[in-house]
Amino acid sequence: MSRGFYIGRFQPYHNGHQSVLERIACSADEIVIGVGSAQVSHTVENPFTAGERVLMLTRSLADLDCPFYVIPIEDVQRNALWVAHVRSMTPPFDTVYSSNPLVMQLFAEAGMEVQSPDMYERLTHSGTVIRERMLDGEPWEHLVPPAVVDVIREIHGVERLQRIAGSD
Ligand code: ATP
Ligand code: MG
Repeated sequence: MSRGFYIGRFQPYHNGHQSVLERIACSADEIVIGVGSAQVSHTVENPFTAGERVLMLTRSLADLDCPFYVIPIEDVQRNALWVAHVRSMTPPFDTVYSSNPLVMQLFAEAGMEVQSPDMYERLTHSGTVIRERMLDGEPWEHLVPPAVVDVIREIHGVERLQRIAGSD
């Protein structure tokens, strides 16, 4: 049984993440997805809770051909221990898919196989760009899967982001 691992903060989950997961999904038997910085929400950089991000991922991946597990992972303030922390929370996996330099380095040092999938239209498909569009009242819906639009509407996510970005 081979399992792949993919991690992000998913603030929010977008079409770039979806394109990578669809590409890597069936190169392994199962996929483990870590929702990073799980303890953080209601900030401009991290507006959505871990549970809201689990909803975005689970609904967007409902038609994926292989089984997947979405696991919230809190930060540890000690990079040298981070891989062990991740592994303590996840089903066992053998291949890590990431383009994040720190994530790649930490897993490589732990002796794990790391693959770096190509980016999908990175200039527009970035969490930072999507949050800026939400703040500015510009269209963002075309950059995320339809299920993510539904979740963000349901939780009034754009209004939340705009309020917490306001000054008192
Ligand atoms: P932020 O701007 O908030 O950091 P992000 O778009 O970088 O958001 P993350 O949740 O930080 O998204 O990313 C998690 C993973 O997704 C990283 O490995 C990152 O390289 C990858 N990723 C981000 N954008 C894309 C994209 N457009 N195509 C492919 N992979 C992407
Ligand atoms: Mg990022």
